[in-house]
Amino acid sequence: MGEIAQQIEELRLCALDCPICDLSKTRTNVVFGEGNPETPLVIVGEGPGQNEDATGRPFVGRAGTLLDQALLENNLTRKHVYIMNVVKCRACIIENGRTRNRPPSTAEISACSTWLEKQLAIIKPTVVLCLGAPSAKSIIRGNFRMTQERGQFFESKYAPHAIAALHPAYILRQDGQTYQVTRQQLVDDIGAARRKVVEVRKAAKLSSDQQVALPQTLLE
Ligand code: URA
Repeated sequence: MGEIAQQIEELRLCALDCPICDLSKTRTNVVFGEGNPETPLVIVGEGPGQNEDATGRPFVGRAGTLLDQALLENNLTRKHVYIMNVVKCRACIIENGRTRNRPPSTAEISACSTWLEKQLAIIKPTVVLCLGAPSAKSIIRGNFRMTQERGQFFESKYAPHAIAALHPAYILRQDGQTYQVTRQQLVDDIGAARRKVVEVRKAAKLSSDQQVALPQTLLE
């Protein structure tokens, strides 16, 4: 295991016992993140839902399937990126005896930011792709406006280049033509993130270690 992967694994083991906020009382699993920790491209979603809580893996439900398809349309798989969430434990409410997902609160996002910051400080990605407004507000700017600003690059304290895309779960709630348009926007924004990695790598002639993380055949 490489040094970065080892540091991420040590951090993951610490996070598994995290007691910082009340989500720790209702979670089944901490959904720390997965993929290639040596990648220059990190994808950050909002937080785990029911399927992710049950399995401990990010984006494994319908939204995850759409994300996998959009990655594949850019010749990328989960082996080429690292996928994590702003919040590592499922936020839920019990209504009429049923447990339902809910968006994480500002306090929960803030409590969990210690893990996000540590993960990104170890991985040091060239590009962060934010999925959905809560992620973009954490990574790019608190008053980020998804409709006007998705698909554009911003500097972030976590990475030299950050870009936001519509959340796959939001896209799945659209119908007909709107579904097709928003789905294509996700594919295009992943493509823009991928091209940015290649562009930066070419310009900076990055080390051969990082080139191994994202094979030439997939990125260029
Ligand atoms: N939505 C997210 O934001 N993250 C997941 O892991 C799953 C769904």
